[in-house]
Amino acid sequence: MKSAIVLGAGMVGVATALQLQRRGWSVVLVDRRQPGEETSYGNAGIIQSEALRPYPMPRDWRSLLAIATGRTNDVHYRLASLPQHLGPLLRYWWHSSPKRHDKISAAYAQLIAQATREHELLIAESGAGNLVRRDGFRVLHRQQADFDAEVGAAEALRAAHGVAFKVLTARELAEAEPGLIETGLGGLHWQQPWTVSEPGALVTAYANLFTRLGGKLLGGDATTLVERDGGWSVMTDDGRIEAEAAVIALGPWSPVLLKTFGYRIPMVQKRGYHRHYAGGSPLDLPLRDAAFGYVMAPMTKGVRITTGAELATPDDEATQVQLARAERAARELIDLGSPVEEKPWFGTRPCMPDMKPVLGPAARHKGLWMNFGHGHQGFTLGPVTAQITAELMSGEKPSVDASAFRPDRF
Ligand SMILES: Cc1cc2nc3c(=O)[nH]c(=O)nc-3n(C[C@H](O)[C@H](O)[C@H](O)COP(=O)(O)OP(=O)(O)OC[C@H]3O[C@@H](n4cnc5c(N)ncnc54)[C@H](O)[C@@H]3O)c2cc1C
Repeated sequence: MKSAIVLGAGMVGVATALQLQRRGWSVVLVDRRQPGEETSYGNAGIIQSEALRPYPMPRDWRSLLAIATGRTNDVHYRLASLPQHLGPLLRYWWHSSPKRHDKISAAYAQLIAQATREHELLIAESGAGNLVRRDGFRVLHRQQADFDAEVGAAEALRAAHGVAFKVLTARELAEAEPGLIETGLGGLHWQQPWTVSEPGALVTAYANLFTRLGGKLLGGDATTLVERDGGWSVMTDDGRIEAEAAVIALGPWSPVLLKTFGYRIPMVQKRGYHRHYAGGSPLDLPLRDAAFGYVMAPMTKGVRITTGAELATPDDEATQVQLARAERAARELIDLGSPVEEKPWFGTRPCMPDMKPVLGPAARHKGLWMNFGHGHQGFTLGPVTAQITAELMSGEKPSVDASAFRPDRF
């Protein structure tokens, strides 16, 4: 029996462990925390079947100026941390030209197209249907130009991929969300995405499925990974374990570990914050407030506000800038109630400069595999890239041409 150690028990690592297990591998899943407690816990919980084009970096001077002068809430940066981000950001800018972005989106769309189907299998097998709604999410617009642009983009997606959406007048939005006290110009209802009331709990349910089927979940530190006797070995709470193969599924922490093996992989680290609010008016489906770059999503703990991207180094202290603006904007729309947690949560979206995840074998180490860098859509894409990784590792023809995602492209 082939054996593998999967490092990282977020959505990506847990799904990878399951896909390998399905193919007859003996798998040990290793994390220093419990499954789904990091980035895969803190997101907006949307399985984004509409996100067929990954987020490019804005290239027009109007948007860049708005970011530089702090006039947009979509992106926030700290001057002191900019030098560290400059290299990956320049590459991100380069890959975001309309022509390159089109090409990247063509590869990306193949992954997104399979996302809900792969989740469906896992949701059914793990019995997690109670966490998932299949009614889409809504967007509220306050500025006509942005509203028109999103409708134009949605129409293009409908023509190319059959994506379903409905344009909502302010009145229709008010009828759909009676808790809103302000509905701006109206917005859109993306009808096909699925939404999850507790993202971390979905990962836990998938991890429980893995252990129920005989997989081993161990506490351990990925930084103890070493190559040994033609295989891989890592230190865990059960002592040192060995396997033929190791998969790096450490999300935003992946490049740091890979640096110790001589791989320099650039990553744009986009921090996001969330906080829950309870005791206010109910919200039916997640709502993105386009003008202020945040999402509010009804979750088990309350309405979760998640923010846009902050360029910050992992050790930087939390800032309140984007969340405070988002909270102010949300209070114009709905009675939010009071914050549940004393302090907001924050985590890092692991974004690659070319917006595509990193999937495949390490160039110079036999048996070392990578599956990370899912950026804004890792909660959506985990099960799909897990399938492709397991197919590649098992010598099967991958269900999607994986060449666009090869690690050695950097
Ligand atoms: C605010 C916000 C909103 C988002 N909204 C959405 C959304 O609506 N839909 C969507 O699809 N995506 C969304 N995302 C993106 C998504 O959350 C991520 O892409 C995804 O969770 C990444 O999963 P992962 O498994 O790669 O990483 P993680 O979930 O971070 O898992 C990595 C694991 O590695 C472990 N680890 C790290 N270092 C070590 C070590 N040394 N030893 C052992 N273990 C280690 C960690 O403990 C962790 O469990 C959002 C992200 C943010 C921040």
